[in-house]
Amino acid sequence: MVTNIPGPKSIELLARKTAAVSAGIGAALPIFVVAGGGGVLVDADGNSLIDLGSGIAVTNVGNAAPTVVAKVREQVGAFTHTCFMVTPYELYVDVCERLNALTPGDFEKRTALFNSGAEAVENAVKIARHATRRTAVVAFEHAYHGRTNLTMAMTSKNMPYKDGFGPFAPEIYRVAPSYPLRDGRDGPEAAAHAIRRIDREIGPDNVAALIIEPIAGEGGFIVPAPGFLAALSQFCTDNGIVFIADEVQTGFCRTGATFACEQEGIVPDLVTMAKGMAGGLPLAAVTGRAEMMDSVHPGGLGGTYGGNPVACAAAIGALTELAAGHLNGRAREIEAIFFDRLAPLADKYPQIGEIRGRGAMIAIELVDPATGHPDPELTANLAKYAHSQAVVMLTAGTYGNVIRFLPPLVISDELLNEGLDVLSDAFAECLD
Ligand SMILES: *Cc1c(COP(=O)(O)O)cnc(C)c1O
Repeated sequence: MVTNIPGPKSIELLARKTAAVSAGIGAALPIFVVAGGGGVLVDADGNSLIDLGSGIAVTNVGNAAPTVVAKVREQVGAFTHTCFMVTPYELYVDVCERLNALTPGDFEKRTALFNSGAEAVENAVKIARHATRRTAVVAFEHAYHGRTNLTMAMTSKNMPYKDGFGPFAPEIYRVAPSYPLRDGRDGPEAAAHAIRRIDREIGPDNVAALIIEPIAGEGGFIVPAPGFLAALSQFCTDNGIVFIADEVQTGFCRTGATFACEQEGIVPDLVTMAKGMAGGLPLAAVTGRAEMMDSVHPGGLGGTYGGNPVACAAAIGALTELAAGHLNGRAREIEAIFFDRLAPLADKYPQIGEIRGRGAMIAIELVDPATGHPDPELTANLAKYAHSQAVVMLTAGTYGNVIRFLPPLVISDELLNEGLDVLSDAFAECLD
């Protein structure tokens, strides 16, 4: 650190932001970035921040990763856009072939590319409805699927995502997920509870799709009890319901497997992907069973920019890194460092209700030790302290009481430990 956070240049830029950018676009940490890489962000004042957020699980392979930069440079000089639906190009097909091979399931698959996670989710629902000729969609409490109209309806939390933005799309039904800290149910019990609601209140024959994040992201890194996802997946198979895994946040080695579904032994019909896929360029995908993906009439899916050639080139760079095979192991090493470092904090501070997560997707849920109720205030104060010490630390959770860590998988042990030292200091500062 060379100045306070934010420093004078960032404060000046913040004033310009306030005057020029919609107030609806927030900023967790009001520093302005000029460079990034290797788990560090450099701000306009010359401060180096430790990045424990990866721009929300995007820069898994690192910021400005050399393989991504090289592919992008090459492509941007060749051509920047044609619209794949007008005149196609090979890179788009390359990305689809790779995703068909990478995603779980040894059946024949197809892929379609889009620009954002929300757009991928919307299209997965369109495909499921078209393939089944049914309308209802089952989503979950604590779910986050995006900010477009359909995905807002599927997202659980009102503030800040939905408040005042209705009316929302119809035929979205929300049921309870497995939340071991708060529901006391094992996986099969939690699944039976959800399935009872679907049976009674929706009717399985009306359900086109059930969509779930294998680990709820914005909802607070809620890891379902073992067997929960497998029971839901079986229920979908038995009832002709399309099982959609929203792997937008969990995908691409984030959890220590290429996709988090693999760790639950489940094979979704459709997978939605985005964030970690293209090293920071906007690209998203739906991959799934060929007969479902091909049930849509030609021209029924698409968009002007979907599968932009520069974004596809970036994805080839990122997927090449991921295919090299070391990142899943690295995510598991990061997990071990987190659990090692967080366990003594959990022993010391009863405010830590739970430490959970997988790979480089780890969270701390903070509670009032007397009642077990969520403590969003302590959460905000811990994050605020970390920010003042140049550590990018994000919060999450329906109740705003979760600190979540999403470091780039290329971060060094040293930087990670430095970031965790600041977290220990934050606890001491707020609670000792
Ligand atoms: C971020 C996210 C989305 C939305 O992605 P955008 O690219 O922001 O539209 C959807 N689903 C999950 C699980 C996410 O984490």
